[in-house]
Amino acid sequence: MSAYTVVSLPGDGIGPEITEVAVAALDRAASVVGGLTVNVDAHDASATRWQRTGAAMSEETFEACWDADAILMGAIGLPEARHPDGREVNGDVIFRLRFALDLYAGIRPVRSLPGVRPTLAASDPIDYIVVRENVEGLYASRTGGTNVRNEVATDTIVITDTGTRKVSQVAFKLAEGRRGRPLDGRRMVTCVDKANVLSSYAFFRSVFDDVAKEHGEIGTDHVYVDAMTAFQVQRPSHFDVVVAENMFGDIISDLAAATVGGLGLAASGDVGDEHGMFQPAHGSAPDIAGRDRANPTAMVLSAAMMLDWLGRRHGDDRALRAAELIDGAVLSVLADGGTVTADLGGTASCSAMGEAIVGAIGA
Ligand code: ATP
Ligand code: MG
Repeated sequence: MSAYTVVSLPGDGIGPEITEVAVAALDRAASVVGGLTVNVDAHDASATRWQRTGAAMSEETFEACWDADAILMGAIGLPEARHPDGREVNGDVIFRLRFALDLYAGIRPVRSLPGVRPTLAASDPIDYIVVRENVEGLYASRTGGTNVRNEVATDTIVITDTGTRKVSQVAFKLAEGRRGRPLDGRRMVTCVDKANVLSSYAFFRSVFDDVAKEHGEIGTDHVYVDAMTAFQVQRPSHFDVVVAENMFGDIISDLAAATVGGLGLAASGDVGDEHGMFQPAHGSAPDIAGRDRANPTAMVLSAAMMLDWLGRRHGDDRALRAAELIDGAVLSVLADGGTVTADLGGTASCSAMGEAIVGAIGA
């Protein structure tokens, strides 16, 4: 018997609609597997809460996230919910949790999906994972930027040995558990940097190379970030696992999502040594909120990733099996194509596609 407590943060816009589907999928998968319980404890952390109370997240919710086995986040933020300095309030939740829980690795799987019209002319299969360093790099400057006489703005990139080592280890561990690249099954980790121009990236690369020595059975290569964007479009089947500094990882994972059909399909996880938070890569999509039109795929796949992470972390085959069931159900609904949402060219509502996915998990 295994039991997990998951804090769900449905959030704003389409967040609650897609979270409802993900929770139904978790319930169904747990009951089909048997001996597995996922208790979902829903909390309000949202831009709407901020508008109502002045705080996007309560301390009680923060504590619950800290204590939970995992966090499942819908989508937080509304374009009009901003602090006086212009910052969006979703950072009050997402960045706070990312830093406080030390969720140092952003994991973004990218793969071609059945039934989804390919964005790229190249017909190569795509199946790789972008691992983005999440808490340092150039974005660490968000707290320490400088500004001289209002004429010059500078930001400082922060690359540490420890941070680079940890995120590189995550990439190699992921590669160990995968089938390898789609065409030749070769397992490999690609380090994306700009080591030819900036010493900080040269340092990132040297720490990566050091970690690679502990994983002799996994191949490695290095790609400069500018060349990377071209490879992602021209020969994406070259990649298995990719690791990059924070800003580069942000950019290449958005590009990666676009190459396989866009926002409604891209799952993500932010994980550390003790905590994990899973959410779709898209935002709260206020333009379609409340109309039962959102594509629940990215959210449901994020819930499957969460189970996969829990399963590996606890050596729990039931959780791994439940993750596979959910993933397979999503793929079968996409492949069938008869019950998909408008963004995929179908006419199904969010709830109808959700019911199809839950039904495909099993009875
Ligand atoms: P954020 O700033 O929160 O990242 P964003 O401005 O990047 O948000 P999204 O909320 O992700 O934007 O939405 C961008 C566009 O993609 C919108 O037109 C939205 O309707 C569409 N979209 C996003 N997610 C989905 C989804 N799950 N299903 C269908 N359409 C979606
Ligand atoms: Mg966005």
